[in-house]
Amino acid sequence: MSLPSPTLPSPLSRVADERLADAGVELWLKRDDLIHATVPGNKWRKLIPNLDAARAAGHTRVLTLGGAYSNHVRALAAAAAGRGLESVGIIRGDELADAPRNWSLARAEAAGMRLAFVDRAGYRRLRASLHEPATRRELTDRFGPCAVLPEGGSNAPAAHGAAAVAAELATQLPDLGHRDLVCCAVGTGGTLAGIAAGLPPGARALGVAALRGAAGYLEREIAGLHAAGWGRAFDNWSVDHTAHGGGYGRVPPELASFAEDFTERHGIRPELRYVAKALRHLYAAAAAGELPRGSRVTLVVTGPPDPEPAPAAAVDGS
Ligand SMILES: *Cc1c(COP(=O)(O)O)cnc(C)c1O
Repeated sequence: MSLPSPTLPSPLSRVADERLADAGVELWLKRDDLIHATVPGNKWRKLIPNLDAARAAGHTRVLTLGGAYSNHVRALAAAAAGRGLESVGIIRGDELADAPRNWSLARAEAAGMRLAFVDRAGYRRLRASLHEPATRRELTDRFGPCAVLPEGGSNAPAAHGAAAVAAELATQLPDLGHRDLVCCAVGTGGTLAGIAAGLPPGARALGVAALRGAAGYLEREIAGLHAAGWGRAFDNWSVDHTAHGGGYGRVPPELASFAEDFTERHGIRPELRYVAKALRHLYAAAAAGELPRGSRVTLVVTGPPDPEPAPAAAVDGS
């Protein structure tokens, strides 16, 4: 099974909204959600470079880890199958092993991914020691030789893949520069790191954290990706930590109704766990006068809406 070809560059479209016009702000959507049906959004940008590198290094199998509704795990399963690689997903929550599969894990498994379930303490240990030789030996002993991708897939090749978003945008908005703010939702930070690194001088990147309590941590992760991927720091980005809506995977009623209203006005249904949080933050920032008049804001739509909402109790992680 090979992957249908992607829609690249992803389309860019303007959103006409009097609430933003009143604040002197232009909003554009960079529709990465339309890149691909089964490897959509930033997952295409981040995974394809990793899978191509894994194949070039002679790997036949990739392994990653994530939560029960992880977009990264599901997309990796599809992308790996499309690139002729076996895949293994280590999933947080040993209670899920014998439960009926949710839609996301069912799709991963249908794409050929082998799922393994670990309890929460074991998952934390694995995540923290993923790059240590002892952990790698354990994984190889159990699953066979494999390329290992971190939670969320954020590493230097992934960030370089995401930098293509900024490069494309610079061809679609040739005067991209001082009045531009490029915004995306943040889970593990690879997408924001790449966008910031790829922007031309003057333009800025803003990430909106979709998880609570990540101030400091995410900034360190992103700076680490810049050091690993570009060998330097960038000072054109920041992360908002106020718009997570209560935490990872939480969708408070105000957020859901904001998204509903946006859909009615503009005919585009925003994904709720990440994209709607960033979008709503931009509207709030415009209304509060926090965006300079004359700003041109591009929201990178990092993924499509879920087919079914995830139960709030089950989504305490990416
Ligand atoms: C995975 C994902 C993100 C988070 O991307 P990071 O690179 O981990 O910050 C954002 N939006 C959507 C829709 C996603 O699926």
